[in-house]
Amino acid sequence: MLLRHTPKEITERKALMINPAKTCQPIGAMYAALGIKGCLPHSHGSQGCCAYHRSTLTRHYKEPISAATSSFTEGASVFGGQANLLQAIDNIFTVYEPEVIAVHTTCLSETIGDDLPQIFDKAIKEKKVPEGKTLIGAPTPSYVGSHVTGFSNMVKAMAGLALPSGKKNGKINIIPGWVEPSDMEEIKKIAAMIGVKINMFPDTSGVLNGPLTGEYKMFPDAGAAIDDIKDSGNATGTLALGEWCSADAARLLDTKCKVPCSILDMPFGLKATDRFVDALRTVAGTSVPDEIMVERGKLVDMISDMHQYFYGKKVALVGDPDQVIAMTEFLVSIDMCPVHIVTGTPGKRFEERILEITAGMGCKVNVRAKGDMFLLHQWIKNEPVELIIGNTYCKYIARDEDLPYVRWGFPILDRQGHQHFPTVGYKGGLRLLEQILGVLLDRKDRDDPESKFELVL
Ligand code: SF4
Repeated sequence: MLLRHTPKEITERKALMINPAKTCQPIGAMYAALGIKGCLPHSHGSQGCCAYHRSTLTRHYKEPISAATSSFTEGASVFGGQANLLQAIDNIFTVYEPEVIAVHTTCLSETIGDDLPQIFDKAIKEKKVPEGKTLIGAPTPSYVGSHVTGFSNMVKAMAGLALPSGKKNGKINIIPGWVEPSDMEEIKKIAAMIGVKINMFPDTSGVLNGPLTGEYKMFPDAGAAIDDIKDSGNATGTLALGEWCSADAARLLDTKCKVPCSILDMPFGLKATDRFVDALRTVAGTSVPDEIMVERGKLVDMISDMHQYFYGKKVALVGDPDQVIAMTEFLVSIDMCPVHIVTGTPGKRFEERILEITAGMGCKVNVRAKGDMFLLHQWIKNEPVELIIGNTYCKYIARDEDLPYVRWGFPILDRQGHQHFPTVGYKGGLRLLEQILGVLLDRKDRDDPESKFELVL
């Protein structure tokens, strides 16, 4: 009963958020930067911001997260952070020797008005950036947007490095959006099965889900190579997964380098994966290989075998917009009823998309962009559900309302596995269904009277 003070009566709030369903912009920028090979993320602000962002990522991925900070004190807060950042760039390239420093701002440096491009110019003029090394920067003030906005801004900064040479490289850019390292592996696997040459960035697979080797490497041998990111301007096209996470970068490649882009939903669930596979198949000019058809068939088989347990179940869902849109479509496609849906990230289009997807369900749907967990809990109190899906913070609501609960999204601080087992693609769909079924059937076993307690379900 940790949330026992949440009232059932809903009062409209304009200037108050309680238990936000989002976190800081720089966390997203830091995660994206870790998907560049040999990159050290740098937080242009105070040490406290950097420590918080690193620890959140460490708790989710269960890996040490290296990142530097401009280490603002009172002086930088008054006179600006230029001197700190110039010193930091010099120190980092001298001591740690990364290929890339990816700088993101914070609330404080944005409020002061520090100008990253001007500071970068000065660093280059003062020869603080060694030959062949790269600096990129993204504005990530946390008082607007969310961690998703920060991720998108850093990925857009990567796209800004693209250098069109006038000669196409025969590859397709894939901008995967904020998905798990395991999901990025799965996306690469699907493209390889179809025979499409891809250039994917960012790519955290192998960076944040690597093996324990007994040898510490500050920069793992994984991630998107900076030369490949620059080469993205020579691709024949871009597939951007997720409007919120990836579209800005894809559109920049389109306007700057004339690389046409398609914005797709993230491939969670049957239909969104079908569209992703179809887009890759169209690019490759081939048919879908049997291996993929077998994976799809297994997912359809599991849906039809277990449909009786999904049918009509009411679900509360919270998370980031690109993930939640695709997940809502998946739940509707298996005849579940997602009735309360919240994202902490702003964006009017979110509510429109959710209402379009759920239009045929025949029941009222509560949906809110820039919403919070408090509102979600109130909705559940007014109209109970049979399942809640979302990040670790849902555990309080699940406990309070005694609900079956599937952990999915960011952050997951109290379980393992998300960084190793994909939930994208057909294989990922099987894992999602296994998790959903597991909690529903555990609940059935717990609650059934002895006369209905069955061995075979
Ligand atoms: S909200 Fe702003 S000040 Fe606070 S940790 Fe995030 S970036 Fe730093």
